[in-house]
Parts: sequence; structure tokens; C-alpha cells
Amino acid sequence: MARQVFINKVKCKGCGSCEEVLPRAFKMDEDFEKAEFIGDGEEIDQEVLESAAAICPTKCIEIDGD
Ligand code: SF4
Repeated sequence: MARQVFINKVKCKGCGSCEEVLPRAFKMDEDFEKAEFIGDGEEIDQEVLESAAAICPTKCIEIDGD
């Protein structure tokens, strides 16, 4: 089952770590300096997705749909 990914843009501080770990799924919005999830419909390794969420310093990436 596809898992939903939400980024809390209030808490995101724009560090870019999620994009470094998983650039197919996360992209920095350079205007607002916030991360966006762009991985809808992609086959994404769930362990790597969880690693990207875990590395987020503000824990603002939420993964749903287990
Ligand atoms: S790792 Fe977290 S704080 Fe850093 S850009 Fe990604 S979502 Fe934002």
C-alpha cells in the first residue's frame, strides 16, 4: 500500500537533509526554503524513506499508511 508523506512546513527549517538522502522524493523549494514531497506514484524504498524522515532535525516528515 502506498504510504502518505506529509511535511509540516511550519517546523521545516529548510536544511535540505531529506533531499540529500532521497532526491527522488524530496525537493527544496528555493523560494520558501522548505522541503516538498515529490515522490507521489514513485517506487520508493521504504527503508530509505524512513531514513530521510529519521534524519530530519525537526522531525517534521510524517509517514502514514502502514
Ligand atoms: S530534513 Fe526536515 S527540516 Fe530539513 S529540509 Fe527536510 S523536511 Fe525540512
